[in-house]
Amino acid sequence: MARHTVTLIPGDGVGPEITEATVRVLEATGVEFEWDVQQAGMNVMEAEGTPLPQRVLDSILRNRTALKGPMTTPVGTGFRSVNVAIRQALDLYACVRPIKAYRGAKNIRDDLDFVIVRENTEDIYAGIEFAKGSPDCVELIADISRRAGKPIRPDSGLSIKPISVMGSERIVQFAFDQARRDGRRKVTAVHKANIMKHTDGLFLDVARKVAARNPDIEFEDRIVDNMCMQLVLRPYEYEILVCPNLYGDIISDLGAGMIGGLGLAPGANIGTNGSVFEATHGSAPKYAGQNRVNPMALMLSGVLMLRHLDESAAAGALESAIADVLAEGKSVTYDLKPNRNDPTAVGTSQVADAIVARLRAGA
Ligand code: NAD
Repeated sequence: MARHTVTLIPGDGVGPEITEATVRVLEATGVEFEWDVQQAGMNVMEAEGTPLPQRVLDSILRNRTALKGPMTTPVGTGFRSVNVAIRQALDLYACVRPIKAYRGAKNIRDDLDFVIVRENTEDIYAGIEFAKGSPDCVELIADISRRAGKPIRPDSGLSIKPISVMGSERIVQFAFDQARRDGRRKVTAVHKANIMKHTDGLFLDVARKVAARNPDIEFEDRIVDNMCMQLVLRPYEYEILVCPNLYGDIISDLGAGMIGGLGLAPGANIGTNGSVFEATHGSAPKYAGQNRVNPMALMLSGVLMLRHLDESAAAGALESAIADVLAEGKSVTYDLKPNRNDPTAVGTSQVADAIVARLRAGA
């Protein structure tokens, strides 16, 4: 059996405990890993002067696959977000967020099974912003007002939204490839092209062209506000949603809410220079070191990683073991219990014990 070398970033806050739990269940599948452990985040700030030392990026570039715990963005480090910095440095342009209702979770309905593919590198997240009253902002407001023939109020701030043909083309093609990989039949492009004709309109035009090159998969588009309503009313009609950055961010959290919250929302960031698998949630600092939070979101990210490494049998076994433990509802953390103070809730580590036991029983 192949041995996979994977960069392991425990992160900070609850990161180390959910990472430990996830490593245990991944190893219990029988797949062999060599973990290239790279500390990052708050814990290395003092010693290394940055939460994101270059060695971490080098390790991911070398191994091409990483499993990552959440990281707090320390205030005043020059990083808007350490997590976004990793995605940008490695050009991890596709964020994949499956929204799946497992029995035993607090789903708003039981027929949820769609995947959000979010563009990760451009749109309003490009970080091109101008503070109200700054000389650049004043100059830009005058210039844009003149060119557009529409006055912008002088007390405005500006955030720029670039959307490119190249960025749109690769994310939409990624969505079609993802559909094929997952055996799904339809891709839906999400946009607001009726209002933002030169950014979302461009995204939609490109999406239609890419769709024409992928005729084996059905294609349609939805305006983002309607999309949100449709997801609540008729989610079973959707399979893969491909979204520019901002709508992808918002719809991902809508999706996480539909499956009962952050404790079960996995994610993958995939790009030209590697792939980083991480939960949607953050470092939940108030729970750090308490053996309390749900490790299943990171474990399900581990399932995505196994599929990415072509270990589909192990991925299926791990997903079933997690689903069984969830459905049984005994060895689950507080967030999955009917009442948050339920004394029968178990800790992070005990969830891993129960899943490992299932995997061994099924082996
Ligand atoms: P958070 O996701 O860390 O936590 C918000 C709340 O959600 C928690 O207080 C908890 O009640 C609940 N929660 C989160 N994860 C859970 C789990 N696994 N099990 C049970 N309950 C869970 O969001 P936040 O408090 O806004 O962010 C804290 C820090 O994390 C910030 O510094 C933020 O920048 C960072 N962050 C990192 C990532 C990442 O590493 N990818 C993502 C989001 C936020």
